Amino acid sequence: MNAIEVLGLKKSYGAVHAVRDIDLTIKTGEIFALLGPNGAGKTTTVEILEGFRARDAGDVRVLGCDPYAQGSSAREWRNRIGIVLQSTSDSGDLTVIETIEHFSGYYSLPRNVEEVINSVGLDEKAGSLIRTLSGGQRRRLDVALGIIGNPELLFLDEPTTGFDPEARRAFWALIEKLRGDGTTILLTTHYLDEAEALADRVAVINEGKILAVSTPTELGGRSTAKALVTWRDGTETKSETTDNPTSVVNALTTQFKGEIPELTVTRPSLEDIYLRMIGIAHE
Ligand code: ATP
Repeated sequence: MNAIEVLGLKKSYGAVHAVRDIDLTIKTGEIFALLGPNGAGKTTTVEILEGFRARDAGDVRVLGCDPYAQGSSAREWRNRIGIVLQSTSDSGDLTVIETIEHFSGYYSLPRNVEEVINSVGLDEKAGSLIRTLSGGQRRRLDVALGIIGNPELLFLDEPTTGFDPEARRAFWALIEKLRGDGTTILLTTHYLDEAEALADRVAVINEGKILAVSTPTELGGRSTAKALVTWRDGTETKSETTDNPTSVVNALTTQFKGEIPELTVTRPSLEDIYLRMIGIAHE
C-alpha cells in the first residue's frame, strides 16, 4: 500500500520549469526525504502533494485521493494529513497553548495538547505569547501544529531550520516516535545528516528532475565506493584509495610492526555523494 503515488508530474511558473517530470512512490509507514539545492523544485512538489498548488500535468494520489480535488471528501482527506510549511504566518498575540488548542479543534482525533507541547520541548513556553518566542522555538511550534491532528501522513518542509543541535536531536527522537506509530513522513531538508539519521529512502532532485532514489547508505553507489585509508609516516601524511581497506591496513600493520600512526579509514559521506550528484547534474 502506497501513501503517495506521483507519475509524470509537471509544473511551470511562466518560463520557469520548476518540476519537469517527476515520478515518485512513497510507501505507507516510510520516512522519505527529498534532497536538492535551492530552487530544485522540492517545495513546489510538496505543495502540489499537499493540495496547495495546481499542477500542469501528471497523476497524483495522496492517501488514495487527488490532493487538488475539491468537494466534501477534501475536508476528510485534510483531516488525515499534517503539514509543516517552510514558513508560517503570524498569530503572535496568542499563547503557545492557545494556538495548539485552537488548531486541535480542526481535527476529529487530535493528540493531547500537553503531550504535543512536551514532545516538541515547549513546556516552559506553553503560556508565552508566540511573538516572544525565538526563531527555533517558533519552528518547534510549527512542528507541534503539524502533528496535533494525529496525521497518517506528515509533510515536513525543512522542519529543523533554526534549531540548535540539542533541539534537532530531540526532533529526531520525535520523528522516530512517529515512525513507531506508523506515520508516513515526507521530509525536505538541507541537512544531509538529518536525512541519513531519519530517512528510509531519499530522492535527490535537481532542476525539477529526480536524479536518484535510494536508501541513504546506498545512494550513488555509496556502500560499494572505494575507501580512503590515511596514516602518518614520519613527517608525511600518506593515503591510499582502495576497494579493500582491510588488506591495506594489514600491510601497514606489518610495516609498522603494530600500531599505525593516525590511521583513518573513510568512505564517502552522504554529503560527498550528494554534492557529486548535484555537480554532475550541472555539467
Ligand atoms: P529551496 O531549497 O530554496 O526551498 P525548492 O527546491 O523548494 O528550493 P521551489 O521553491 O520548488 O524550490 O522552486 C523551484 C523553482 O520555481 C525556482 O526556480 C523558483 O524560483 C520557482 N518558483 C517557485 N515558486 C514560484 C512562484 N510562486 N512563482 C514563480 N516562480 C516560482
